[in-house]
Amino acid sequence: AKQKGRGRVEIFDESLSAALEHRVRTEQDLRNAIQCDELVVFYQPIVEADTRSIVGFEALVRWQHPTRGLLAPDAFIPVAEESGLIVPLGAAVLLQACSQLSQWQRERPGCERLRMSVNVSALQLDHPSFIPTVAAVIETTDIDPASLWLEITETSLVADVERATAAFEALHDLGVGLALDDFGTGYSSLAYLQKFPMQALKIDRSFVDRLGRDPEAAVIVEMIIGVARTLRLLVIAEGVENEEQADELYGLGCTLYQGYHFGRPAPAEKQWQESGTSIVA
Ligand code: C2E
Ligand code: CA
Ligand code: CA
Ligand code: CA
Repeated sequence: AKQKGRGRVEIFDESLSAALEHRVRTEQDLRNAIQCDELVVFYQPIVEADTRSIVGFEALVRWQHPTRGLLAPDAFIPVAEESGLIVPLGAAVLLQACSQLSQWQRERPGCERLRMSVNVSALQLDHPSFIPTVAAVIETTDIDPASLWLEITETSLVADVERATAAFEALHDLGVGLALDDFGTGYSSLAYLQKFPMQALKIDRSFVDRLGRDPEAAVIVEMIIGVARTLRLLVIAEGVENEEQADELYGLGCTLYQGYHFGRPAPAEKQWQESGTSIVA
């Protein structure tokens, strides 16, 4: 029994050190990637429910890894957060997304009021460089601050309410829009939501996914939309994959959609190619 136990400990140690090695290598590669422009920003359209026209995009980062191929955020955002690299990574994404927005607004007729949503981690929000970075990016790219939306998860607000409130107020003063991401998956109360100067709620994909199959999901979505109405916030449903979901969401009062049904995240040069999409000014 003793021998067996020791064997197991060794196996455990080996897999642990392999995992550690993988993590350390990923961190080194990521540091390099940020400097070498290996990060690519994909864009996914956000459409208006009534007209189905594109009103904005969400910027979603990818990593064009030299040997591992195109990596999704799940493969490296956690490492970026643990190592603090999320701060320079986030700044690089913000600059790239706002530069793209600025170009589309200038060059595409009818796109003057197009919006860009950028995801922000709790760690970025907490970092003293964040507000100056946002201000500098707005300045450099010469965009209207109101056309930039920052998406912040519900859970990142709960971690430190005081700090989050201060950051929200500073961003609000800059004139940027604020959206609460993955809404419904955390624990914020109504009263608590009222404390933050925000303009939109994003209904988490998990609820949209359950629509049509689970009557409870419809009740939750309806409640979220009710909350948004009360607080005069926009609602964006994420993960809309088919017309049935879009229909049901419309019936529940949702006004903005995002999901594979309207467009998958894709590089900037792949946008605006479908003939059916139009723009509202
Ligand atoms: P999120 O902010 O909730 O973004 C939505 C995710 O849902 C994206 O995954 C998107 O590709 C995916 N999605 C959109 N429509 C559909 C659909 O119809 N069906 C399905 N099944 N999925 C859909 P992605 O691009 O893999 O990003 C995952 C998460 O990584 C994001 O979740 C966000 O939390 C994080 N992330 C992405 N880019 C950044 C970034 O630049 N900075 C930070 N801090 N986080 C980021
Ligand atoms: Ca998001
Ligand atoms: Ca989500
Ligand atoms: Ca998320």
